Amino acid sequence: MKGVADLAVIPQKFIRKERIVADVQISAGWLHSGYPIMMHSSIGGELFNPEDARTKGLWGEVHELGHNQQRTCWEFSPHTTEATCNLWSVYVHEEVLGLNRAKVTFSFLTDTRPQRLSICVAHCSSKQKNKNICIILTLYFLVFARYHDMRNFPVHNEEKMNLYAETFSKATEMNLTGFFKAWGWPIKPATEEKLNYIEKCFTLTQVPEACIHKCYR
Ligand SMILES: [Zn+2]
Repeated sequence: MKGVADLAVIPQKFIRKERIVADVQISAGWLHSGYPIMMHSSIGGELFNPEDARTKGLWGEVHELGHNQQRTCWEFSPHTTEATCNLWSVYVHEEVLGLNRAKVTFSFLTDTRPQRLSICVAHCSSKQKNKNICIILTLYFLVFARYHDMRNFPVHNEEKMNLYAETFSKATEMNLTGFFKAWGWPIKPATEEKLNYIEKCFTLTQVPEACIHKCYR
């Protein structure tokens, strides 16, 4: 739970208990998020086997804990709802349970942000994304922390995506508008203007054509 709190950039003492209740019949699937999280009783034993947790993982359980940490301000429903919750699964498995752990520390200094992002990009481009997934996850600490300080969020996905691109760029001190545009995000000229003071570090030509999604256009 401390790991879940850390990635969400919230105090490790939760304001309410996260409970998992096992039952013979639940409303959807094997597990679902909420208060309480529900799981099918046939897999309830997973919660009481620390050795299995450290060797096989608890992906589904942490996936649901991740759902409970998702916030509509950086969620682009329905496109990312079943994706961003897995940030918590990856983080807890890598950092807490020690599964597939990359040899990269999560402790970081603010003055190394640009270098770390550069390393991340290099790994993405060399198709070694998994090797240094920890570095990528560190960026979310910076992004989620900034969201905690904001109020009055937009409602619609297009505005939320522009806010996300702006927030991610400011958090990493890198102008990522070109990167998000390459992925088909509807980045507005106003967002680009806001970030003009930061040098652009991506252009369309730097993202492989195969990676360019059109779904948001
Ligand atoms: Zn889910």
